[in-house]
Amino acid sequence: MINDLPLPVTNDPVDHGFWASALQSQLVVQRCSGCRLLRFPPRPMCPKCQSSDSGWQVMSGRGKVWSFATPASPLLPAFEALTPYVTAVVSLDEHEDLRVVGPLLLAPGGDIQGVRADQLSIGQAVSIEFKRLADDVALPCWVLEPSGRQGE
Ligand SMILES: [Zn+2]
Repeated sequence: MINDLPLPVTNDPVDHGFWASALQSQLVVQRCSGCRLLRFPPRPMCPKCQSSDSGWQVMSGRGKVWSFATPASPLLPAFEALTPYVTAVVSLDEHEDLRVVGPLLLAPGGDIQGVRADQLSIGQAVSIEFKRLADDVALPCWVLEPSGRQGE
């Protein structure tokens, strides 16, 4: 089902820590060593204090659906076979301005194709799950919390 998808580059020095943690099923975001600002996605420099020193902070992996979309006609042909699927933008519980994008799943271990937009609403609670796509790639996905599911 997920063969031939374009995979991210995981050895870039800016975001290697994110992908390495994903392989351990841990969500991390950057923390500026200068001003302590948390930021995501990974960037080489802090947008607040311009420090280029940063570390990684482990997040709970819990959040709320901030937005979602069902691409009717994906831009990349490799994703055509997966349609319909839902991609969510999730605000992390630690800070609502930290948002992580990923496919939305109805249950742990669920299928990327198993969700319909009419089962979702903004603000639903989700938790992260990592799907292994390659030796060096674990894709962050979002799983609806049982209390937040609708229309099953
Ligand atoms: Zn900073």
